[in-house]
Amino acid sequence: MRDHDRVRTKASALAALLTAGLVLTACADDADSDSDARTPAGSTTASAAPTASARPTPDAAQLATLGVNELGAIPVFMYHQLVEKPRRIYDMSPAAFREQLQTLYDAGYRPITAAALAAGEIDLPAGRHPVVLTFDDSTWDQARLLPDGTIDPKSAAGILEAFEREHPDFRATATFFVNSTPEPFTDRRVLTWLAENGYEIAAHTWSHADLGKLDDAGVQAEIGRDVAWLEEAVPGLTVRTLAVPFGVHPRNRELLRAGTFEGVPYRLEAVFGVSEIASPSPYSLRFDLFDIPRLDTGLGVRDAQDALERLAADPTLRYTSDGDPERITFPADRADRLNPDFADRAQPY
Ligand SMILES: [Zn+2]
Repeated sequence: MRDHDRVRTKASALAALLTAGLVLTACADDADSDSDARTPAGSTTASAAPTASARPTPDAAQLATLGVNELGAIPVFMYHQLVEKPRRIYDMSPAAFREQLQTLYDAGYRPITAAALAAGEIDLPAGRHPVVLTFDDSTWDQARLLPDGTIDPKSAAGILEAFEREHPDFRATATFFVNSTPEPFTDRRVLTWLAENGYEIAAHTWSHADLGKLDDAGVQAEIGRDVAWLEEAVPGLTVRTLAVPFGVHPRNRELLRAGTFEGVPYRLEAVFGVSEIASPSPYSLRFDLFDIPRLDTGLGVRDAQDALERLAADPTLRYTSDGDPERITFPADRADRLNPDFADRAQPY
């Protein structure tokens, strides 16, 4: 299943990957000793680890040196299948995915979930940049378990886990936008494993529907049935976010926020689509909770690489954390971009 079609060549995308890697590595601003403890196993929410209090607070000079800007943009990557021999433009090989994690790591990016972005729950060490890794369509290569119940190291989740073991300040987390048919990940236990290991399980409609073609009842059935199924499959789970298939919104956008299916209400905090730009900061006036842009990845597309290159070329555009999840710190000349709802937490410098 593809979210949409844009034809690009594999060769140019490969060149883009290499270019992005070189640019970002060259711009890597590895600074300090960050220590992001991960959410302990057993938690069914992907909330950020409460490590901020242990970190020193940067002074104004340090903020400027680090380029702290919590009104800057945050790239949200959209992945599809990981396959050894990519054939479709949105496919990516496991090796290329591992390479992309390294590129992100070297450039100072650290993953947060889609729900954490939407809620502005961003808890990273000072100087680090959030990135959101999302996976659509719940294909088996994204997360699968071995017979002994451990995660397959060749799956996307397995690659993330291995990367965290090698880079303990890179928390293995991602958001999986799951369709309920066909059976996601070929094994329902996978959903529980993901929830228990700090990943976000989110909705992608029951049958990968084009919501623009459905009436109000149809839209609510596609979303409500998916949410109800997931919350039943994973005890304790609350589905907080949705990615609309094909990037298409329903005519009645209110149904993204809340609706009812078979007498059971659903309520979502945020909705993700597809675009060619990084997401605005959740504290920015430009941020729209129900239309958060995501960037295509894959060997046939270069939206993600382009966005990373733009942010590397002009780091003042990029979200750079102050190390304190409560304060919202940014250069004073950006103050007009702040959503006034967050004024009481603002710290211009
Ligand atoms: Zn999809």
